[in-house]
Amino acid sequence: MRPITKRIFLTALTCPTLGWLMRQDQIHTTITPAARFQIEQGQEIGKRARALYPEGTLIATPDFHSAIATTPNLMNDPNTKTLFEPAFLTDGFATRADFLTRKPDGSWHMTEVKASTNDKAEFIDDMAYTTLVIERTGFNISEISLLLISKEYRLGMPPENLFVELNHTEEVKARVEEFKPICTELEALTRTPEKPEPELQLQCRGCDLFNDCTRKGITNHIFNLPRLNQAKFDELSALGILCIEDIPPGFSLTGNQNRVKMCVQTNKPQIEARLKPDLDVVSWPAFYLDFETVMTAIPLYHDLAPYAQLPTQYSIHKCSEPGHVTAHSEYLADPSRDCRLELAERLIADLKGAGSIIVYTSFEKTIINGLARLYPDLATDLNLLIGRLVDLEAIIRKNFYHPGFHGRTSIKRTLPVLVPEMSYDGLDIGDGFTAMSVFALMAFGKYEKDEAETLKKQLLVYCKQDTLAMVKLHERLVAYV
Ligand code: SF4
Repeated sequence: MRPITKRIFLTALTCPTLGWLMRQDQIHTTITPAARFQIEQGQEIGKRARALYPEGTLIATPDFHSAIATTPNLMNDPNTKTLFEPAFLTDGFATRADFLTRKPDGSWHMTEVKASTNDKAEFIDDMAYTTLVIERTGFNISEISLLLISKEYRLGMPPENLFVELNHTEEVKARVEEFKPICTELEALTRTPEKPEPELQLQCRGCDLFNDCTRKGITNHIFNLPRLNQAKFDELSALGILCIEDIPPGFSLTGNQNRVKMCVQTNKPQIEARLKPDLDVVSWPAFYLDFETVMTAIPLYHDLAPYAQLPTQYSIHKCSEPGHVTAHSEYLADPSRDCRLELAERLIADLKGAGSIIVYTSFEKTIINGLARLYPDLATDLNLLIGRLVDLEAIIRKNFYHPGFHGRTSIKRTLPVLVPEMSYDGLDIGDGFTAMSVFALMAFGKYEKDEAETLKKQLLVYCKQDTLAMVKLHERLVAYV
C-alpha cells in the first residue's frame, strides 16, 4: 500500500472516495502540454527560490525512498544550514518539504514555495500537512513561511525581487492541531479494501470523475442549474432531488435557473422574444474575432508583471451575411519577442471597415482595452473597434437555452448542440489552456525547431476553429428567429 501523500490527505479531507481512489492508485493522469507547462513552471520557480539560499543542500533524487534514506543524516549534521526537498515518512504518511533552514536553537524554519502571486487558504493546509508529518518524525518546526511570486517583479531585476515571503507560523500551527485528531481515521479510511461510498457535494461539480461518479445515469443534473449556490444545493439535497425533472412546481429558483428547468421539463429549446432584435443589431459585413493569450509566473518579456495576460494570436473570419465566409485573416506572435504592438497594428488593419465585430464573451473587449491603454497612439482606432463589438455568448445566455447545453453557454457546450457536424475532437490543440501552455513552452525554448513549427500550425488551426464555430453558431441561431 502506498503511503498517504499531501495530495491524498488534503483530497480525502473533502472527498474520502477520491482520496481512497488516489491511494489505491486508481487515478491515472496523462501529461498533457498544459500539465507539462505547470510542472516546468513550478520547477523553474523552485530553482530560482533555491538560488536565494547559496548555503543550501539539495536532495536531488526524485526517488522518494532514496530521499528518505538521505534526509535524517543531513538533518542531524550540524553543518547542514538549509535543506532543499528533504523527505519524511512516518506511520504511513509521506511528505517532501521545499526548504528547511536550521535555527540557532536547533529547531527548523520551513518554507513552502508557490508559483502564485496571491496568498490562498489552501496553502495553509498544504503547509500544515507537511509540518504535521515532519514533527511526527521528531523534528521541531518553529517557524513556517510561504514564498510567493512578487507582483512587482520585472525581467532584469535581481533574483530576490522575484519573491515575497509571508510568515504563516500561527495559522499553520493551528491547522496542524485540527489535523492531528483525524489522521488515524483518514489513514484507515484510505487503506480499507472497500471504496467509501461517494456522497454528492457541491465540489463534485468540478471533479474530473463527476460523470462516472455522482452524476452517473443522470442527464439533467441539478448542477446544470446556472449559479447553483450552497444554500439552494442544500435545499434540493434535503428534498432528495438530483434531477432537474424532479424539481417541484413552485420551488424557488432564479429567472435563469427557471428557464433551464422549463427547458428540461418541456424538452424544448427556450427562445426569448428578444433573440431576433438582439441578433438584428449585427451590421454586415461582420467580422468574427477570437484571441488567444499567455500568462506566466516569470514574465516572458520586459516590462511585464508576473501573470500579465498578453495576446499572442487572433483569428478573424469575415462574412457578408450569416454563414457566408468571404475572407479569413490571422496572426500568431513570434514567441521569442513581445509582439503586442505588431499584433495591435495588424488587428486594426484586418478589422478595417464598419461592420460588427462578433466575439464570444467579453474577453476580446478586455484584451483590446488593454492594448488601447498600452499604446495611446493606437487608442482611437482600438476604441473604435470596441464600439463595433457584439457579444454572441451574451445574446445566447439571455435569449436561448437548449437542454443539451447542460447549464453552460461556453462555445464548447453550445457548438455540439447547435452545430453537431463541427467538433474540436480531432484537433491536436483543442482548448485555450493547452494553446496558452504550448505558446509559453515555445517562448521558454522547450521545443526543438521542427516541433515548434508544427505546434505553430496547430495553434493557428485551433484559433481558426473558434471563429469558424462562431460563424456557424450565429448562422444556426438566425435560423431559429
Ligand atoms: S464526483 Fe464527488 S464524490 Fe465522486 S470522486 Fe468526485 S468529489 Fe468525490
